[in-house]
Amino acid sequence: MSSMEQVAEQLRGKGLKLTPQRRLIIGILLEDRSHPTVDEVYRKVLEVMPEVSRTTVYNTIREMMSLGAVEEAGRFGAGGIRYETSDEPHNHFLCVNCKSLVDVDIPTPEVDDVEERLPGCVVLQRRLTLYGLCAKCRESLESERAAERLPTVEGLGE
Ligand SMILES: [Zn+2]
Ligand SMILES: [Zn+2]
Repeated sequence: MSSMEQVAEQLRGKGLKLTPQRRLIIGILLEDRSHPTVDEVYRKVLEVMPEVSRTTVYNTIREMMSLGAVEEAGRFGAGGIRYETSDEPHNHFLCVNCKSLVDVDIPTPEVDDVEERLPGCVVLQRRLTLYGLCAKCRESLESERAAERLPTVEGLGE
C-alpha cells in the first residue's frame, strides 16, 4: 500500500504541494477500504474541514489516480464510481442488498483462454467479483422472513 510519504514524494515530483487539504483527502483514501465514492470521501472531509469543496476532493482523487495510488473499482449501486485504494492484488465480494464492496483475499482462478475466446482482446487485470449477501443483510433478511412466517392476528381467529 502507498504511504502518505510516498504519495507526497510523487506529488512533489509533479510540482504539487502536500497542502493540508490534500493531506486530509489522501489520508482518508489511504485508510478507507470500503471503495468509497467521491461523495463518501467528501462527507468525511467535511467533518474535519468544512471549507473544502467537492471539486477539490474530486480533483485530488484524479491526482491520486494519475499517480497510480487510486484506481476505479467500478460502479455498484447508485452512488457513481467507487474507488479502489488498495494496491495489493485481491478479489471482491459485493453485497447485492446494501452494495458494500469488500476485499477478499482468495486466489484468482486461472482463465488462460480468454484471449482465445475473444480474439484481439488483451487482459490487463484479473479481478473476481463474488455477488451475495453480507452477514448483516443476510441476518436482517432472514429475520424479516421469519417474522413473516409468524401467525397473524387474523390467522389466530379460528
Ligand atoms: Zn449487505
Ligand atoms: Zn478492492
